[in-house]
Amino acid sequence: MKVFCIGRNYADHAKELNNPVPQEPVIFMKPSTAVCDPGSNLYYPEFTDELHYECEMVLKIGKNGRHIPERFAYQYLDSWTVGVDFTARDWQQKLKKQGLPWEISKAFDHSALVGALLPVPPISAIQQAEFSLELNGQTVQQGKTADMIFPVEKIISYISKFFTLQIGDYIFTGTPPGVGLVLPYDRLTGYLNKEQLFDITLK
Ligand code: MG
Repeated sequence: MKVFCIGRNYADHAKELNNPVPQEPVIFMKPSTAVCDPGSNLYYPEFTDELHYECEMVLKIGKNGRHIPERFAYQYLDSWTVGVDFTARDWQQKLKKQGLPWEISKAFDHSALVGALLPVPPISAIQQAEFSLELNGQTVQQGKTADMIFPVEKIISYISKFFTLQIGDYIFTGTPPGVGLVLPYDRLTGYLNKEQLFDITLK
């Protein structure tokens, strides 16, 4: 199992980090050891002083495929949820400035929190969904999947040009604006269409 992540898929988030709005999807990956679920013990990583949350709508793949046309992309989906793409922003900025791969900042252990999975609704509902994140009970991020620069079918088709999608893979579809610091003992609660799908406290 592998995790694909889409970077800069919401224009207002690209702006808040002073990044250009991309012409093609920006893709990076996390290994299977990055994935954790709401029942895991989530420890603040010792190597960073600037851990950020990025709340994202997450898709799970239910069928193997490559070179998938956009019109068939929906058939490859199994379930969806909301998750957190944890990012060591200090490491990411340092590595980006040096023009180096940013893996350490994005792909470390437990950097991909996946909420409780729900069966996928019709594609129109996936693309009209709302999701949000609370930090210690205060809403800090609110996203609408309709605001994605690259919609779900385009993302699946694009990824599959380069990488075989396999059953169990996850796709983190990008974060809306409002990313920020998370600290030990902070509580993060994620919602998809107002349904709570994770509620965790960092250790
Ligand atoms: Mg992200």
